[in-house]
Amino acid sequence: MKIFSCSSCQSRVYFPNSVCLSCGHGLGFDADTLTIVALEPAGEDGLYRKVSIRNDKDAPGDVRYCENAVHGVCNWLVPDSGDATLCKACACNRTIPNLSEVGRLEAWREVEQAKKRLAYSLLRFGLPLDGGPQGAPPLTFDFVAEAVTGHENGVITLDVLEADSVERERRRQLFDEPYRSLLGHLRHEIGHYYWMLLVERGGAIEDYRSIFGDERQDYQGALAAYYANGAAPNWAESYVSAYASAHPWEDWAETWAHYMHMVDAVETAEALGMEPRAAGLLFGATWPFKKYDVYRQESFESLMERWVPLALALNSLSRSFGHRDFYPVVISNVAREKLAFVHRLVRAGAH
Ligand SMILES: [Zn+2]
Ligand SMILES: [Zn+2]
Ligand SMILES: [Zn+2]
Repeated sequence: MKIFSCSSCQSRVYFPNSVCLSCGHGLGFDADTLTIVALEPAGEDGLYRKVSIRNDKDAPGDVRYCENAVHGVCNWLVPDSGDATLCKACACNRTIPNLSEVGRLEAWREVEQAKKRLAYSLLRFGLPLDGGPQGAPPLTFDFVAEAVTGHENGVITLDVLEADSVERERRRQLFDEPYRSLLGHLRHEIGHYYWMLLVERGGAIEDYRSIFGDERQDYQGALAAYYANGAAPNWAESYVSAYASAHPWEDWAETWAHYMHMVDAVETAEALGMEPRAAGLLFGATWPFKKYDVYRQESFESLMERWVPLALALNSLSRSFGHRDFYPVVISNVAREKLAFVHRLVRAGAH
């Protein structure tokens, strides 16, 4: 993710911040420009004017906080001009946790943090949240306790108990998933959503099958076999994760999630000025490196050229602290083909 600064005093601020600790201005996330903006009261209660360092005469209109700000779960802004009271990201929520139950508000806050980061990436890619031109169902979230996490026909259900780190760790070990996280879950499930839009309705089903296999094979049977027997010992030759080997749908969703992890990590490293480049190791390379927007990068190969040195650096840093590799994954040529396919479809589906 990008690094944000307060549009009033230029101090560094972070994506979830709703107040600038340096100058005291309220802050909100403007989903149209994908930046954090400082706010000034605009007379009427709850109405704000965006503070612009450039003193834009044509700075767009006044804004309000998303309705969910009262619960402390959202810092996104809503234009005052329309009828919407929820921001673009919260408008996708169909069910939120029962806030009268103990711990649910805290869990929802964590879930919203992960969902906002997910939404940031989708908006950066320019992917539709409303079902897109093919008229698929709009993206919808059900956040409920003790539900089965999954995707069905546009609806992503997330068990909010996953926000509890102890419970998540228990399940992580139970299912032997090294990267079990809320954000990882959401990126996986959103992968199923965009399969429906970009593969099934996007005219890419034949290409998909030639790379990932035939998804018409028995899904329940495949999952039952996976949970009974585990992945084949050589799964890493073809998949980004063990679970991806369970079924072509899961392979796509795992590959999609992996792709989103890579893009976010590369953007974050670049924003922090910490992006290692293979080219940077060569004598005579100049610093700083040319900036490329990883969300707009045409070729998958150039993403890989940025990702591989970053992954190596992450592992080396992890070793510096006496931990095992942070990213113990070697992307095989087969998995690379799959990631490249996801990249092409994301590019084609972006507007
Ligand atoms: Zn400030
Ligand atoms: Zn919101
Ligand atoms: Zn799945």
